[in-house]
Amino acid sequence: MPDTTAPTTESSEANVDAVVIGAGMTGLMAAWTLTRLVKRVCVLESKSRPGGLVATTHYDGFLLEHGPFTILAKSPAFRRLLEYASQDLEIVTADPRAKARRFVLQHGKLVGIHGRAGPLTTRLYGLGAKARLLRGLLWSRPGPAEETNIFEAVSRRFGTAFATWAVDPLIRGIVTGDCRKLSLQAFFPAAGRHDAQVRSPFLAIVAARRRAAPAGKTLEQLDAIFPPRHCERLAKLRRELISFRDGLAALPTWLASQLDTPVRYATHATSITRSASEYVVTYTCRSSSDSAEAATGTVRAPALIITTPASVTARLLQPLCPDAASPLVSISHASLVVVHLGFESGQLTRLPHGFGFLVPTVEPAEPLLGTLFASRTFSHHAPQGHELLRVFLGQGTDRRLLEETDDQLVARAHDAIAEILGVTGPPVVTHVDRFSETIPLYELGHLERIAELSEKVAPLKGLVLAGSYRDGVSVSDRVAAGFAAALECAGIGEPSQSRNS
Ligand SMILES: Cc1cc2nc3c(=O)[nH]c(=O)nc-3n(C[C@H](O)[C@H](O)[C@H](O)COP(=O)(O)OP(=O)(O)OC[C@H]3O[C@@H](n4cnc5c(N)ncnc54)[C@H](O)[C@@H]3O)c2cc1C
Repeated sequence: MPDTTAPTTESSEANVDAVVIGAGMTGLMAAWTLTRLVKRVCVLESKSRPGGLVATTHYDGFLLEHGPFTILAKSPAFRRLLEYASQDLEIVTADPRAKARRFVLQHGKLVGIHGRAGPLTTRLYGLGAKARLLRGLLWSRPGPAEETNIFEAVSRRFGTAFATWAVDPLIRGIVTGDCRKLSLQAFFPAAGRHDAQVRSPFLAIVAARRRAAPAGKTLEQLDAIFPPRHCERLAKLRRELISFRDGLAALPTWLASQLDTPVRYATHATSITRSASEYVVTYTCRSSSDSAEAATGTVRAPALIITTPASVTARLLQPLCPDAASPLVSISHASLVVVHLGFESGQLTRLPHGFGFLVPTVEPAEPLLGTLFASRTFSHHAPQGHELLRVFLGQGTDRRLLEETDDQLVARAHDAIAEILGVTGPPVVTHVDRFSETIPLYELGHLERIAELSEKVAPLKGLVLAGSYRDGVSVSDRVAAGFAAALECAGIGEPSQSRNS
């Protein structure tokens, strides 16, 4: 199919059936789905590569993941994507010894919370706390129907020790947020529903395991658009932490290669207006990343999916729907720094086998959030005789850390882990990634903000907002959101407001 959207002159114009803004995992999945539903799809991406936050580089034998590190294949849409991609890409799974062994920092030492029984066998808290956890699992008070914070819900059900030492560090590890502020219902919708209904979480888990998973509408829609490929090995990957031999970036690169029309890279959407029943997206496009000359252009379509972060989406929608800005900009975002440190194996005298360790809020180690043992999880992430660590530093929404130099951040990360992991000598490889206001925090009131946003854009038929500020932040959630956005955009899926409720 000819590329009808290339800006060949100073100001070019094109008509397509659907435009997708952003070629991260959400936008690419949306575009791939749309290519099977409509004829001409145009994807605009401001960077010069696909993947958004998903980015991998190789340096001196080390494999560096600059965004997500591994994916839990929990959504049916992500598993279906894997079925197709695995024909071309080699999937790798986390070393089982590393996957099951996780640690929490307590009084400066690593304490294990390993495997499924970890919360009941760990030394993080005593027998009384374990009895409280067990009692809560068997029988505990349901929560209110309205939004509750995660810490409150977990403490009510299972006791404060479990919430403080197991759940709080886990949530900090996932979104760097404070579980005392995050909404259970927005962050874990299924757990929120169960919390309001179930008296015995244990019996509910047993019943759910016995019930065959219902086919569900999503599966039917997936089957219709992407017929199953019956990959037996993939059925077992449901609970695995996965990546690819060449790193996670292989997946968006593969997805982009499946589109009929190439993604328009280095193309920055600047505003959206509406003319008759079509959206008119204006963009600037640089022919190369260092080129000062930018061509402008417009692309028109009756359907539009926006997958950009909340602040960018608010700016893009300003001319079209200024009221949408308020709920979008009121969503808080966490900033963080990831410091990659490569060592010779002998330099880490106390590095255990495991996935990594997390730091609970009550442990005085700020700004250390945790450390992933990258090469223990995927051995090919470091050359023979070496180890790779990813040290996470952050202070919630506070951005000051990001202003420090690379040398300062490397020194901070090194000092923070030196005693814990028995580090001797300087790292042989270092790299710093900064994330400014990047991770959306689904804080209390989030569902109301999303409902308000949906209401404001409801009159704009054919427009779907699908950024990671809604419907989950994990890559698996983003792929599911991209698939659902494409169906909605093509007029065959549920509106996002009802998906969320
Ligand atoms: C440090 C870190 C670690 C993480 N670890 C994990 C993990 O281990 N596992 C996991 O499942 N998830 C993880 N996540 C979360 C996950 O990576 C993200 O939620 C997910 O990749 C977001 O995908 P997206 O497509 O929604 O957004 P993005 O990846 O942000 O994509 C949006 C795209 O829009 C483009 N864009 C922005 N503005 C414009 C514009 N004006 N015009 C055109 N294009 C534009 C951007 O360049 C970008 O490519 C992590 C996130 C971070 C930051």
